[in-house]
Amino acid sequence: MRLILLGPPGAGKGTQAQFLIEKFGIPQLSTGDMLRAAIAAETELGLQVKDMIARGDLVPDEIVVGIISDRIDQADCANGFILDGFPRTTGQAEALDELLDEKGIALDAVVEIRAAADILVGRILKRAQENGGARADDNEEVLRNRLKVYEELTAPLVEYYSAKGLLKSVDGMAGIDEVTASIMSALNAE
Ligand code: AMP
Repeated sequence: MRLILLGPPGAGKGTQAQFLIEKFGIPQLSTGDMLRAAIAAETELGLQVKDMIARGDLVPDEIVVGIISDRIDQADCANGFILDGFPRTTGQAEALDELLDEKGIALDAVVEIRAAADILVGRILKRAQENGGARADDNEEVLRNRLKVYEELTAPLVEYYSAKGLLKSVDGMAGIDEVTASIMSALNAE
C-alpha cells in the first residue's frame, strides 16, 4: 500500500499515520521529521534548512525530493509507505510521479484529511503547550504562515490527485477514532 496523507498542519496526519503503520505494516515517511532530525544532528542539510523551518516556509523542492527518493529505496519500503507532509507543492508532486515511474511503482491512494484553519491554530498551540513548546515552528505567527503556505502551495494538490482519480477525502474535524474509521472505509480496508 503506497499512500499520501494530505492536509493542513494540525489536521492529524501524524496521528492517523500511526494507525496506518500498524494496519498495513508499512513505514511513515515524514519529511518534517527527517528535516528536524537533520537539524538536531547539525548536519550540513540541517544548517541549510533550519531558518526556513523556523519561519514556517517550505524548503526547496530538490531537497525533499532527494530525501524521499533515497528513503523509498530502503528495504522497509518494499511493501509500501505512508508519505506524511510530502509532496507539498505541485513541483514535488510531479517529481514524485516521475521518480515512482522510474522505480516502477505507483500510488494506491491520496487521503486528504480536511480541517478548518481557525480550529487548527488552537489545536496546534495546545499541542505545543503540552509538549513544552518542543517545536520551534509551533508559535502563533509561524503557524499562521504555515497555514497560508498550505493554502497557497499545497491545497492545489487536492485537485491534482483528484484529476488522477486517487483522492479520498475524510472529515478531520471528527474524533480520532472516527477519522481512522473513515480512512479505513475510504481505503476499503475495514
Ligand atoms: P511538518 O512536520 O510536516 O509540519 O514540516 C515542518 C516543516 O518542515 C515545514 O513547515 C517546512 O518548513 C519543512 N517541510 C517538511 N516537509 C516539506 C516538504 N515536503 N516541502 C518543503 N518543506 C517541507
